[in-house]
Amino acid sequence: MRRAVFPGSFDPLTIGHTDIIDRALPLFDEIIIAIGTNSSKKYMFDLEKRKEFIRKTYKDEPKIKVDTYKGLTIDYCQEIDSDFILRGLRNPADFEFEKAIAHTNRKMSQIETVFLLTSADTSYISSSIVRDILQNKGDVSLFVPKAVSEEF
Ligand code: ADP
Repeated sequence: MRRAVFPGSFDPLTIGHTDIIDRALPLFDEIIIAIGTNSSKKYMFDLEKRKEFIRKTYKDEPKIKVDTYKGLTIDYCQEIDSDFILRGLRNPADFEFEKAIAHTNRKMSQIETVFLLTSADTSYISSSIVRDILQNKGDVSLFVPKAVSEEF
């Protein structure tokens, strides 16, 4: 079984994330969307809410599972028997950052990171911009899936 882990904060899920997930679906038998938890980081949405947004968005897609994890992503991958990490690349800054992490992960394990380039029309979207709009009571419906926008 070709299983991939798509790790992230998903605070909240955006159509940038869903673009990567939807395009990765034909490549894998199962994709675990894994919310990494970091107790020193402050989130806008609690863990349950972030999970619920993803679950609702993919309720009709049996290949997608949602989980949470603590610690190193490679340790989590080994725990659930996943050989692949999936990541999205938006820009050169993402590339530089992700390159170092992927090399490190390869040095420490056999786990391969698979990168997909964002679609041109979602490449500028980020959870942090969505959070800014929400904090200022703006409309985020153009940037997030329905399961997220219907909350506001
Ligand atoms: P992290 O804190 O790990 O960056 P995010 O939830 O922000 O968590 O992102 C998770 C993954 O989704 C990362 O690989 C990131 O590059 C990717 N991603 C985020 N926004 C977009 C977007 N607009 N297009 C494509 N990939 C994206």
